[in-house]
Amino acid sequence: MKSNNFIKFLGTAGARFVTINQLRASGGIWIRYKNTNILVDPGPGSLVRVKQSYPKLDPANLDAIVLTHRHLDHSGDLNIMTEAMTEGARKKRGVLIIPKDSLGREPVVLSFLRQAVRKVHFLREKASFKIKDIRLSSPCRLDHSVENYVLKFNFGKTRLCLVSDTKFFPHLAKKINKCDILIINVVFYNPCPGIKHLDYFSALKLIEQVRPKKAIITHFGIPMLRKNPKRLAKLAKLKLKIDVLAAEDSMLVAIK
Ligand SMILES: [Zn+2]
Ligand SMILES: [Zn+2]
Repeated sequence: MKSNNFIKFLGTAGARFVTINQLRASGGIWIRYKNTNILVDPGPGSLVRVKQSYPKLDPANLDAIVLTHRHLDHSGDLNIMTEAMTEGARKKRGVLIIPKDSLGREPVVLSFLRQAVRKVHFLREKASFKIKDIRLSSPCRLDHSVENYVLKFNFGKTRLCLVSDTKFFPHLAKKINKCDILIINVVFYNPCPGIKHLDYFSALKLIEQVRPKKAIITHFGIPMLRKNPKRLAKLAKLKLKIDVLAAEDSMLVAIK
């Protein structure tokens, strides 16, 4: 039987144009380890992607939904996925882990769903949460246009880091420290000064500095799609001598 522990890319779209045109799906990432299920960044279409998934994924088995930041390509299906996690808001179950500004002036979660979950936790620098078999921490805030954090998941012997949308900054690698699998949101190919997103070359720099066992680039904007992410991952692998993968919609990465 296939590994029961995995990271599944329900979608790999990054930023608004790839998302609104669905050039890639935008469903987020599902992490399963032992008996624990976590959905990260359920963007538009997440529910459809989950229901169409093989192996089957059941939102009623989710233990947590985690949001790195409030932008629509990350939060579009947050409400419906929360409703699904709580079995139609009838069962008090699951937790939401979100940045505080997601519930600011324009809350991204409807109030009846906030009441339906067991708890709403706020991400902040150096926060740590235990979700059954998985420990989640947010070692550092990212430099994006809204509140946004690096997510670090520890399960078994694996340390998985997700670097969501951010401008590159020199001490980012230090904050991530050691990790086995590094997932990076790479919207641009060339640096795009003034827009707080990573480009391919700063992603390479980050991978080189962190030196994970495996790096996965995802969350592609149009400039990345034009350059063929798979080809870019191959070039990165040759250059850095690190296993670099370009995520594809529905891609499943088995974990120990
Ligand atoms: Zn994004
Ligand atoms: Zn964003």
